[in-house]
Amino acid sequence: MMFIRTDWTVDELHELYEMSLIELVTKANHIHSQHHKVGEVQVCHLISIKTGGCIEDCKYCAQSSFYQTNLKAEPMMGYENTLLRAKEAIAQGATRVCLGAAWRGVRNNKQFEQTLRMVKGIAELGVEVCCTLGFINASQASMLKEAGLYAYNHNLDSSEGFYKTIITTRSYQERLNTLDVVEKVGLSVCCGGIVGMGESKEDRLKLLHTLSTRNPHPESVPINQLSPIKGTPLENQKPLSCWEIVKLIAIARIAMPRTMVRLSAGRIDMTFQEQALCFLAGANSIFSGEKLLTVANTSINADSEMFRQLGLKKQRAFAYEDSTK
Ligand code: SF4
Repeated sequence: MMFIRTDWTVDELHELYEMSLIELVTKANHIHSQHHKVGEVQVCHLISIKTGGCIEDCKYCAQSSFYQTNLKAEPMMGYENTLLRAKEAIAQGATRVCLGAAWRGVRNNKQFEQTLRMVKGIAELGVEVCCTLGFINASQASMLKEAGLYAYNHNLDSSEGFYKTIITTRSYQERLNTLDVVEKVGLSVCCGGIVGMGESKEDRLKLLHTLSTRNPHPESVPINQLSPIKGTPLENQKPLSCWEIVKLIAIARIAMPRTMVRLSAGRIDMTFQEQALCFLAGANSIFSGEKLLTVANTSINADSEMFRQLGLKKQRAFAYEDSTK
């Protein structure tokens, strides 16, 4: 096992970026094989338990009430329906179920009680449960942990500089504070970003720098590609090249060897070949299901075919719990 570093400099990440793609992927793949089972990919499933009507102004998001998108706000999903969806996803191979709510933050109300029940119900099915509910305080995070929550997701989205141009209703520092709260109560941290929002290469490397200098590293880093939503300020953004995504994944893998690197939103536009390259570069997780919160995702049939063609195996839940991690 290699020594895990949390003292990366932005210059070092730049040096990795400047390597030839083949060299970079080879290096990342070597590190990946030392810390993970090659060819194992964890399937996660995201359920939106409260969709739309969010009071934040994230410029990429269909759920923000600042923009006129085609999305209608919905009431919170019921317990039975949520459990049913979780069971269906698990039957199709998901070993991590994430519950998302378009809240600014958690409040101590009936909806939170309902969320706690959902977490408990899904955790009892033997899978990792993750929540993404916005800001959270220590007592709420502890309640979620007690209910059986494994991880809490709160993304940093981009570099601190670029973030300010995308979200004005909450600061980068507030997001970092939320990550600290989550970590302190002993929950795993899931934290990543979105690329293709018009940020520079520098911004992307700075995001990876912030993540890879956290001690400990986030247990999970989702890399999302922007799905431009009509009606949002980012509706006309051009997609990033696949090479850029592969490089980013490889650098994330090298800088954070044990972290689960999740190839998240935007996969629907990638070929099997492009996804295969991402797995070679160190991605070891995908999201299943036709929708990722509000954006389209690769179909389950297409994913089964990809697993077959690439000879991938689905990773069990808590795969790294007993290792030296
Ligand atoms: S990304 Fe999350 S916090 Fe931002 S507007 Fe969408 S639902 Fe709200």
